Amino acid sequence: MANVFIGLGSNIGDRKKNIAEAINLLSNSPDVKLEKTSSLYITEPIGYVGQDWFLNSVVEITTSLSPRDLLYQCQAIEEQMGRVRTMQWGPRIIDLDIILYGDEVIEDDELIIPHPNMHKRRFVLLPLVEIAPDVLHPKLNKTASELLQVLKDGHKVEVYTD
Ligand code: AMP
Repeated sequence: MANVFIGLGSNIGDRKKNIAEAINLLSNSPDVKLEKTSSLYITEPIGYVGQDWFLNSVVEITTSLSPRDLLYQCQAIEEQMGRVRTMQWGPRIIDLDIILYGDEVIEDDELIIPHPNMHKRRFVLLPLVEIAPDVLHPKLNKTASELLQVLKDGHKVEVYTD
């Protein structure tokens, strides 16, 4: 069983419901056990600014799925929830990214783990530090807390309360 962190984001429709539904679909899989869920964070979009703010969250799971099968599972959830791929940084009903998969380092055409932007994004590091401050980035050899301390991303990220 591998210890895995998945980042979720949504900025279309009922963002809170979308994230809850994606977490449900993920944890309904017999090969996935949900361990921890971060708070929801409201976050300023990066890239294309003419879009609504995102809600983001990070979950910790244990899974027997391989990294690739987990990626396919995440993509199946995105498709099931009706995500239409438009521009790379554009609006989305739901986005699931594999942030960390144990201490594995994978870099091929389909899959990059640790996620290549995880250490550059406040909307990933804040929820990750909330649930796993000491988890190690296996390439940079720094904990999530250490990465957050040196982060330069100025985009706004706050805990979401409704
Ligand atoms: P996105 O538009 O952010 O959902 O990016 C989707 C693309 O990123 C897919 O084609 C995936 O194959 C690729 N990808 C590479 N590494 C990862 C990762 N760690 N988690 C999710 N998608 C990834």
